[in-house]
Amino acid sequence: MLNVALFGPPGAGKGTQSEFLVKKYGLFYISTGDLLRREIASDSEIGREAKNIIAQGGLVSDEIIVQIMEKVINENSGYNGFLFDGFPRTYVQAYILEGLMLKLNTSLNCLIDIDIPEEEAVSRLLHRGKTSGRSDDNEVVIRNRLDEYKEKTLPVLNFFRERGNLVKIDGRQSIEEVQNEIRKILQLELSKTLINLVLFGYPGSGRSTLGRKLAQNYNLEYISTGDILEKEVEIKSDIGKKILSLYENGQLQKDKVGQLVPDELVVPLIEKRLANPDGKKGFIFKGYPRTMVQSYILDGLLKKHSSTFTKVFEIEVPTLLLIERLKRRGKSDSSRNYDLSYEKIIQRLLEHEQKTIPVFNKYIKIHGSIKIDGTGTMDTVYNRIAQKMEFSRNNHL
Ligand code: AMP
Repeated sequence: MLNVALFGPPGAGKGTQSEFLVKKYGLFYISTGDLLRREIASDSEIGREAKNIIAQGGLVSDEIIVQIMEKVINENSGYNGFLFDGFPRTYVQAYILEGLMLKLNTSLNCLIDIDIPEEEAVSRLLHRGKTSGRSDDNEVVIRNRLDEYKEKTLPVLNFFRERGNLVKIDGRQSIEEVQNEIRKILQLELSKTLINLVLFGYPGSGRSTLGRKLAQNYNLEYISTGDILEKEVEIKSDIGKKILSLYENGQLQKDKVGQLVPDELVVPLIEKRLANPDGKKGFIFKGYPRTMVQSYILDGLLKKHSSTFTKVFEIEVPTLLLIERLKRRGKSDSSRNYDLSYEKIIQRLLEHEQKTIPVFNKYIKIHGSIKIDGTGTMDTVYNRIAQKMEFSRNNHL
């Protein structure tokens, strides 16, 4: 996961920067201020307790904050990570954050302090007050908020300085300049984490070719469950023998389209590969997850390796082009059993649509996805993906 907190006085530009970060890195955005305002709008018990404190520019109690944070973090733990805005705001909340992250087997990568002078904060907030509709963006309350910041929030920096994950940015720069600095910080953080790429696409979209090339060029381990299972059968391992016996007793049929080897045989193999990154910078999954169950299993396995970050590519190819490609493949050395007739090709594509697309959709909802135009030569498609990777081979992977 990539977990980041934006720190700085009110008006530093945390909310503005968050918008781009959330989109770019697929993080789940948590602004305690927004959450509290929502509680107030729904007139909940928490909202009623927080209302007056916020109106006067004070800080809501840590007791309330821990309740809302625990809920929102647990409900969204499937994301690439969290982006915190306006939290932690007290020393106690820094400990709370550490505990909440630990519970998810992860930690905060860094706290980015966007530093601006007090008077700059006041003038920005007064300006924002003209359009924000926020009752706390007026001069008296702004001064109170800044006093609270100096007294209770600034000490939080020591907590993170001691842990070595505090980074400072000059917030007086332009929005774009601050954005660039944050981007550099996060790319550096990403270079320390394992990157997982998941390639989604219909059969014939080029996943294997692209996956292998990406793996080679970005030093990732290519995980194709189909290939792994074939290998197990070939070397007659215990799992290989079990698969063979499923063929022998008819539970699996060789030339039947879309049959899946049972998860209890596949999962240990994937787990073994994940446990031994072998100097690789991460993994690239092709053909997995293929069912709803597998998508939960994969998320669980990846979560066990806390320093992971997932990027999902969806390779889009029009159906007629897929059929043409598969038919052509059927005449080549890399032919699959389902490439041999139009009937089988269509059956395989339909099967993919019915079984795998719902999994894509669930996965994409959680992790977000990057759509790639899959038409043209494989080199062209590869270059489109490489462009989106935005990780320079030398610097980051
Ligand atoms: P913000 O939108 O982050 O400027 O927050 C608006 C107001 O919500 C603050 O002035 C506080 O009253 C309250 N608030 C937001 N986050 C926290 C927090 N982590 N701890 C305590 N109070 C908070």
